[in-house]
Amino acid sequence: MRVRVTQLRARRTLPVGVARNLIVFLRFVSAGAGKRRRRIWTIQCMEKEKRTEIGNIGEFGLIDTIRETVTLYQPGTLKGIGDDAAVLGPTDLVRVVTTDMLLEGVHFDLSYTPLTHLGFKAVAVNVSDVAAMNAVPTQLTVSLALSNRFSVEAVAAIYEGINLAAAHYKVDVVGGDTTASRSGLVISVTAIGEAKQEEICYRSGAKVNDIICVTGDLGGAFMGLQVLEREKQVFLADPNMQPRLDAYPYVTGRQLRPDARMDIVHELRELGLVPSSMIDVSDGLASELFHICQASDVGVAIYEDKLPIDKQTYDTAFEFNMDPITSVLNGGEDYELLFTIDQKDFPKLEKHPDIHFIGHVTAAAEGKLLITKSQTAVPLKAQGWKHF
Ligand SMILES: [Mg+2]
Repeated sequence: MRVRVTQLRARRTLPVGVARNLIVFLRFVSAGAGKRRRRIWTIQCMEKEKRTEIGNIGEFGLIDTIRETVTLYQPGTLKGIGDDAAVLGPTDLVRVVTTDMLLEGVHFDLSYTPLTHLGFKAVAVNVSDVAAMNAVPTQLTVSLALSNRFSVEAVAAIYEGINLAAAHYKVDVVGGDTTASRSGLVISVTAIGEAKQEEICYRSGAKVNDIICVTGDLGGAFMGLQVLEREKQVFLADPNMQPRLDAYPYVTGRQLRPDARMDIVHELRELGLVPSSMIDVSDGLASELFHICQASDVGVAIYEDKLPIDKQTYDTAFEFNMDPITSVLNGGEDYELLFTIDQKDFPKLEKHPDIHFIGHVTAAAEGKLLITKSQTAVPLKAQGWKHF
């Protein structure tokens, strides 16, 4: 198959020290003895060894600490944190609202996920859903459930990531809730966005002969997860072994700190192009195509040799004895945009360096097909992330 090496643009490069952080965390862990101690050491490392119990400052003290770190960017936010509810100004635009919840042990593993990255990711995955509606995010609420393992410094580290993402997407943190948890960490973010009514993209608008487009490259986050899990197991088996992550900066970065494609939403607006349907790739390309087919009552034909994959994703899949196409079709957590456009709009995007044309929409009766590089049509299977 053809390998497309995506240029690592600034927004794609790994934030400084992710891989190094991980090694630091795990080295720190190795100083501990026993499972519980390891966990505590991990968090202490992220907190730079300072620890203030949340009970010492109380919930109101914690809210004050959080509020001091928050910056507002949107003129439409009339009142943010600090009253019984936030107040948003009137607008001529329609609003979109979306919520995503991340649970420790289900969606993330703190033995290799820095809290700051987790905060960023919790915002990014919600912004990605706003982007998938072709809307622009404006406000967020953030709710945290924290066990007593987490200190004021740990919350500050999570909010450092949330605030970095808020600045990156120009979205306001206007409220939320903080509560005690019996075990583990839960982060729930609700995002509000806005768009002109005619700009909103549903999953249901794909038409026969539309061109299927996808941004960026796929499968990287899944392969990054495989690397992180493997190195964790190697380390747990022998704490003297140091994790080998230097060779995987792109895929581990895709897993730990994804970026929602708001840049594409803004570019589409500048081009005056409204996709006929759109969805973000959170559960794997095949699964998202199935959602569009179901909502639009259409079929699809996509071409194996058109699927965008980064060289590091491709090489890592081979190392794990996996077909790279499996990670592309079923990996998930890429947070790229999958959309369809009318053929007349193709010239507007034809030369875009980061949008790939992977196939076309067909009649529902023709099914959902993957055309392999040997020109064989095989039925697509959606084996994406199963939530339940
Ligand atoms: Mg989505």
